[in-house]
Amino acid sequence: MVHSVPPLNDKSLLKSQCYIDGKWIGAKSGKTFEVTDPASGKSIGTMPEMDVSDCEVAIKAAEKALVSFRKTTGRERARMLRKWYQLMVDNADDLAKLITWENGKPLADAKGEVTYASNFFEWFSEEAPRTYGDTIPATVPGNRVYTIKEPVGVCGLITPWNFPAAMITRKIGPALAAGCTLVAKSPGETPFTAAALAELGHRAGIPAGVVNIVTALHNTAEIGSTLTSSPVVRKVSFTGSTGVGKLLMKQSADTLKKLSFELGGNAPFIVFDDADLESAVAGALASKFRSSGQTCVCANRIYVQKGIYDEFCKVFAEKVKGFKVGGGYEEGVTHGPLIHNRAVSKVESHVQDAVSQGGKVLVGGQKLPDLGENFFQMTVIRDMKPNMRLSQEETFGPVAGLFPFETEADVVKMANQAEVGLAGYFFSKDIQRCYRVAEALETGMVGINTGLISDPAAPFGGVKFSGFGREGSKYGVSEYEVIKMVTLGGM
Ligand code: NAD
Repeated sequence: MVHSVPPLNDKSLLKSQCYIDGKWIGAKSGKTFEVTDPASGKSIGTMPEMDVSDCEVAIKAAEKALVSFRKTTGRERARMLRKWYQLMVDNADDLAKLITWENGKPLADAKGEVTYASNFFEWFSEEAPRTYGDTIPATVPGNRVYTIKEPVGVCGLITPWNFPAAMITRKIGPALAAGCTLVAKSPGETPFTAAALAELGHRAGIPAGVVNIVTALHNTAEIGSTLTSSPVVRKVSFTGSTGVGKLLMKQSADTLKKLSFELGGNAPFIVFDDADLESAVAGALASKFRSSGQTCVCANRIYVQKGIYDEFCKVFAEKVKGFKVGGGYEEGVTHGPLIHNRAVSKVESHVQDAVSQGGKVLVGGQKLPDLGENFFQMTVIRDMKPNMRLSQEETFGPVAGLFPFETEADVVKMANQAEVGLAGYFFSKDIQRCYRVAEALETGMVGINTGLISDPAAPFGGVKFSGFGREGSKYGVSEYEVIKMVTLGGM
């Protein structure tokens, strides 16, 4: 059921059922859950509250479909993905409207996300025919040895709400390229975008049972344990918090699944004295405030060297004053709401903690109740210290904490103190420092003189408590493959 309709050109993209075995169905129990617009706080519709038995039906459908899908050629799968990509491009405006409707991000950002998301289908349509094996010179005389890349099998995919389209296509693209079938648990906060993607996949000719989408809000944990404990599901790919990642890893132990985990971040963003100040400010703004600070690669700790610290604080704060917070469909709005009030409470507590320990608020620092309960001001705090909560935990919100530092060695040490290691950034014009610091940062990704690093052609992923596995790039497909070695003897 849908309570408030986004202004779509193609209304048939708005689904309020799940896509399983090529059909649109509700939960067997008939139960549904409410989806809330983070801007208005109002319910915008309902989706099926699926449970273990529904999830098992989806797994069975994926198991059945695997029999023939794994035998399709890479070229055939490439054509399907390419068609799906084209349908995303053709329906980009509608997909963006859906993202804004349920996630709250401004329409321009949502459009950017659709482009980014569709590019994963384009990229993996090009990878699908190129899943080469090796011919290996044998050490045993008379033997011939070679390898085949095979699909790992049925996959369970779990994604978060912060990129309702891109987090899903980043997993479905390589899974299909490898010849896998899948059950995706879409986020309870943003299930409508996932459903629209499934509808476009259906139109692209993806065979029934290859892509199955289940939804749940209250039954999330039981859906998770069904996917992780099923012996049919051979791979789980999860994007979300480190805590849930640890739980899913434990749950997957008994069935020894292949796993990829894209978990939380707490990115250091370092500005050295020798940086170009203007581009460092622009990079920090883009990295910190995109999606109101709700991205895993967001700058969380902004370290600025003493020589330019005051100037950086001034220029950065001035720019943030120019942001306009509001509803995502409104003209001129640059930043939307947070996803729910738990997120607002966390942001508020990080601000209060920083202020109580000597941090000075230069911009913002408050909730925006006149706009709605999920809105918070874009915030800049200077004189941050390493023992503050913002330094130690991922804020996942619109607070830029500016930390002063003295030397390269000091800042690298501080940057690496986090237990997570997803993205790290720095600005410098010194080429030797660029190599040195890029190698010293304990992160899976480094941005040098840029605040934006996501690219379907580049391997995305973390180290330490940010997880393992890589999405996108030529490495993305291998997460969904197994290598079979064949030895032919008696030559
Ligand atoms: P979350 O871990 O609470 O939820 C992520 C997904 O997991 C959702 O679909 C949720 O419904 C599901 N989930 C929650 N508990 C589950 C359980 N017990 N079993 C199975 N599924 C379960 O994370 P969130 O708060 O929604 O998202 C924000 C987090 O995601 C942040 O930590 C952020 O850094 C991280 N993230 C990481 C990346 C990355 O690529 N590394 C990208 C985006 C977000």
